[in-house]
Amino acid sequence: MRKPMMAGNWKMNKTWAESVVLAQGISNRCDDAWDAVDVVLCPPACNLKAVHTVLEFDRRDIHVGAQNCHWEEGGAFTGEISIPMLEDIGVDHCIVGHSERREYFSETDEMVNRKVMALVAHGVTPIVCVGESLAVRDAGTYLEFICNELRADFAGLEPEEAAKCVVAYEPIWAIGTGRTATPEQAQEVCSAIRAALSDLFGEEVASGMRVLYGGSMKPANVDGLMAQPDIDGGLIGGAALSADSFAELVEACL
Ligand code: 13P
Repeated sequence: MRKPMMAGNWKMNKTWAESVVLAQGISNRCDDAWDAVDVVLCPPACNLKAVHTVLEFDRRDIHVGAQNCHWEEGGAFTGEISIPMLEDIGVDHCIVGHSERREYFSETDEMVNRKVMALVAHGVTPIVCVGESLAVRDAGTYLEFICNELRADFAGLEPEEAAKCVVAYEPIWAIGTGRTATPEQAQEVCSAIRAALSDLFGEEVASGMRVLYGGSMKPANVDGLMAQPDIDGGLIGGAALSADSFAELVEACL
């Protein structure tokens, strides 16, 4: 009943020309069956418009997502990009609270929460990232850690607002390391996330929300992860940088 989602987070990769080539490559692989999956491409901010134009020209029902946003409508925030600016160029999804932003740019749960609220108010879908470090995993407190992060990031939202969000479980120790969580490890956390969402927003809302897995997901391991009942898709880094591997991941959702 939940439509799968496959989102490619290109991070700080691909020039303008490379972004066009990659978007075109993915668009060329796209067929009618892809309608059964919400496919989201998240290029660097400076290439969002170019990617949107490629997809629009090809009349592809593929979404374009930003990797970050500011919660204010505009003003004196040097270097930031507002949600109305993103909407203006066709962006309809936005990754929020990625562990790289939390770690390298001091993004706090409070900031993530403001972004989530602002995105929902604008009708842009937030993909809210949560996940534990290796130290937290080894300490055995990861479920508590992740559920606390989730509660802080979703604080103050009404159930109908939460229902518009997507959650991505990204264990930090699995990002870019080639070390994927096993399907059982990922399912354990995604099921705990859904239980926490149910406590916050009710069973009906929680059972309709997509929970993605991210962290070294690739064609070789996607099937085991997608077979889990609480994993509804992926947030992909490295394997989203090639049209062939990303297309295989989309096709694994069908
Ligand atoms: P990798 O797929 O490269 O591990 O990255 C995952 C990620 O951080 C997606 O947001």
